[in-house]
Amino acid sequence: MLSVEEALQKILAEVNVLEAETVPIMEALGQVLAEDITSDINVPPLDNSAMDGFAVQSGDTKGASKVAAKTLKVIDTVLAGGISKKEVTAGTAIRIMTGAPIPAGADSVVQFEDTDNQKPKDSPANERANEVAVFSETRPGQNIRLAGEDIAKGKIILKKNTVIRPAEIGLMASIGQGMVKVIRRPVVAVLSTGDELVEIDKPLPEGKIHDSNAYSIAALVRRYGCIPIMLGIARDNEKELVNKLKQAKDADMVLTTGGVSMGDYDMVKDVLARDGEMVFWKVRVKPGKPLAFGKIKGKDKNGEAKSIPHLGLPGNATSCMVSFELFVRPALLKMMGKKNLVKPSVEAIIENTVKNDAGRRIYDRAIVQKRDGHYYARLTGPQGSGILTSMSLANGLVVIPEEKVRVNEGDTVQTLMLDWNEEVYI
Ligand code: AMP
Ligand code: MG
Repeated sequence: MLSVEEALQKILAEVNVLEAETVPIMEALGQVLAEDITSDINVPPLDNSAMDGFAVQSGDTKGASKVAAKTLKVIDTVLAGGISKKEVTAGTAIRIMTGAPIPAGADSVVQFEDTDNQKPKDSPANERANEVAVFSETRPGQNIRLAGEDIAKGKIILKKNTVIRPAEIGLMASIGQGMVKVIRRPVVAVLSTGDELVEIDKPLPEGKIHDSNAYSIAALVRRYGCIPIMLGIARDNEKELVNKLKQAKDADMVLTTGGVSMGDYDMVKDVLARDGEMVFWKVRVKPGKPLAFGKIKGKDKNGEAKSIPHLGLPGNATSCMVSFELFVRPALLKMMGKKNLVKPSVEAIIENTVKNDAGRRIYDRAIVQKRDGHYYARLTGPQGSGILTSMSLANGLVVIPEEKVRVNEGDTVQTLMLDWNEEVYI
């Protein structure tokens, strides 16, 4: 049976970075840049004031202090977005607001707090004093933001392969770029299998259960920036499975849940082997052993034949989610052009004793908290692979190595972080 690493390598070897598309910047959050972005403007475009105050010549403020104020004549006011046509000459000042361009002749800005004009908002323009007393010296350049100090014209501001976050969206907006070329988001078909499954909006006949996997898996697909296509439920017969899989023909990946274990009706792996190509089945991991991976036939947008990676995830509610985090997520991130494929992990002190008689690597659901400079991981309850409540209470998965028969309370274990604290109520 393959180890987690071997299985992941086999999956990653079969998936490729998708092609680029051009989208409005607001839609590009989390996507990877497929081009360098160069600015054709300076940001800010002009030297401007970093403070509300007075644009002055620093020479006029020499020796100014609270007891020896220097008085200047106020000749104009300039607001953010405006331009003063006047020039600051010796003995004069122009009232200036944050972001407004520095008028000709001025070399610095005295903030209101260093003048006798501390509450300019309270007095209407026509009643404002046409003189100002300055209480402190300025140096040349003081409180001036230089043209191009953030972004210089002609400079590459974002390199190809950068992952777009809110700051990158802001940067593109600041240079007036509304569209951007990024690696497109994978489209992922999600299909549940099982005669026992009932849609969530239908009453439950005796012996049936609601299809929860379709939702948890589609939500994971969306969380990592991809587009889920929910194909519903295929009953446990080959004809229906094959028919439903036909609807996935132009997806970039197919995820099924269930039908991959040893039961009489577990036909996903059989159909995969017969109609497609089976790469592997079963991984030395718990939960999630009966993972199947292969490729099925599909079509690209030009109608050309292509093969679509198909992960047959186990049916149990938590198994399929853990398998997704371990195997599907890295594959999708690779397709999106991302380089960092691993979820962050921390070393945590485990607060339970865990036995491992399976000889597989165990990923147990735990809540991780930081106390006194150490991370602690406590199991969140029963770890049965069909139990979803302990997954909901968890923000991490503690890793019990396959060669360890037992991990004792107080031992340090590697813990995969599914979420950080702000997303989970502790
Ligand atoms: P299987 O691998 O198809 O035998 O499924 C393993 C277990 O997972 C069985 O108890 C199934 O009822 C359960 N299961 C399979 N698919 C789903 C689903 N979509 N939602 C919830 N439970 C499921
Ligand atoms: Mg089944």
